[in-house]
Amino acid sequence: MQSTTVVTCAECGRRNRVPRSATGVPRCGQCHARLPWIVDAGDDDYDDVVGSSTIPVLLDLWAPWCGPCRLVSPALERLAGIHAGRVKLVKVNVDEAPAIAERFSVRGIPTLIVLDGQDIVARQTGALPEQALQSWLSDAIGAHPSTKDARD
Ligand SMILES: [Zn+2]
Repeated sequence: MQSTTVVTCAECGRRNRVPRSATGVPRCGQCHARLPWIVDAGDDDYDDVVGSSTIPVLLDLWAPWCGPCRLVSPALERLAGIHAGRVKLVKVNVDEAPAIAERFSVRGIPTLIVLDGQDIVARQTGALPEQALQSWLSDAIGAHPSTKDARD
């Protein structure tokens, strides 16, 4: 698997190489905006990708044949953008990562887990509408971006 992934900066459009596993938060090389961090992990590199993270990790345990997973996936990627610098989205295909599925006793997918270090701070089995996902994640990582968006 590649050790970096390419992310286009939402602020300036520059394409950045982002490491799959690192401490800290990836930032744009040009404008220093925080970049969304979305990576895949499997049994082999889970500990590397998740264990190295110094920010909360949102685990998306999914499988290619799972319809609800395909619905949730783009919403999670948008949330990773909204919460850039505050959460790392790690996608695990459970068909290819039986050890991780076992570790988290996955009974249904999608299973979404927020990890802060070794601690599970939130867990959700099954798809949710995007709005509900957003508040679930915001509660879990203690961030409420919508409150400063002045939407009302
Ligand atoms: Zn930039």
